[in-house]
Amino acid sequence: MFLELVDSLRCVRPHEDSWLVARADELVERHIVRGELGCPVCEARYAVRDGIVDFAADAARAQAADASRGSASTRAAAQSDSGAGAEANQALALRAAALLGLTEPGGLVVLVGEWTACACQLLDMIEGVQLLALNPAQELQSGGPLSLALIPDVLPLAAASARGIALDAAHATPSLLAGAARALVPSGRLIAPASTLVPESLRELARDDEHWVAAANPPSNVSAPVPIALRR
Ligand SMILES: [Zn+2]
Repeated sequence: MFLELVDSLRCVRPHEDSWLVARADELVERHIVRGELGCPVCEARYAVRDGIVDFAADAARAQAADASRGSASTRAAAQSDSGAGAEANQALALRAAALLGLTEPGGLVVLVGEWTACACQLLDMIEGVQLLALNPAQELQSGGPLSLALIPDVLPLAAASARGIALDAAHATPSLLAGAARALVPSGRLIAPASTLVPESLRELARDDEHWVAAANPPSNVSAPVPIALRR
C-alpha cells in the first residue's frame, strides 16, 4: 500500500468520517509492506501483509476470499491459453482506459474484482496514475503505482478521492455502487455491469451490452436542485 494513498482510505465500519493512522513495520520505496492501519474513531485495526491491506476481516473475509478464489481460477484457466489471457487483459485495459476517459496523467484509479486482471496493462498505458486494485482476481504485486487491498461489501475510500472506478459483476452491489458514486471526484467516472442500476447521483454517459459508464456531476452542477430519493 502506497503511503500517500492512505490519506484516501477510510474505515469500513459505519461511523463518522475519519482518516486512518498508518503504522509501517516494513516500508519499501514508500510502500507499506507490513504494518497496520488503525481507525481513531472505532479502533478497528486493518493488517497490511505483503503490501495488501486487509479490510475484509471477520466473516466478510471468507466471503471475499471465496469470490477471489473463484475468479482467480477462471482467470488462470483463461491465461493458460498461450497468450490469450494477455491479449484479453490488453483488451480489458483498453476498455477501462477508454470508458474511464484516462487521457490525462495523475489521480487515483480503482479496479475491483475481475478488472484487476488488466492492472499492469493499464499502468503501461497511462502515466502518473495511482492504481488501487481491490479484491484482485489474480496474484498482483504491490509496489510502484500499484496498491492492493481486500475489502468487504464496503468501499474503503474517502469522498471525492478517485477519478475512475471499475466494478465487476461480483462487486456491483448496492453498497459498493453507492460507495463508488461517493468516492468519485467531480467528473470522475464509474464503470459497472449493464445489468445494474446507475446510482442516482451519477449521470450515465454511455452503455453497451456489457457495461455502463457514468460520471459524477461537475462542480458547477453540485448546487443544482436534485430530486430527493431514497438512496443509501
Ligand atoms: Zn472505524
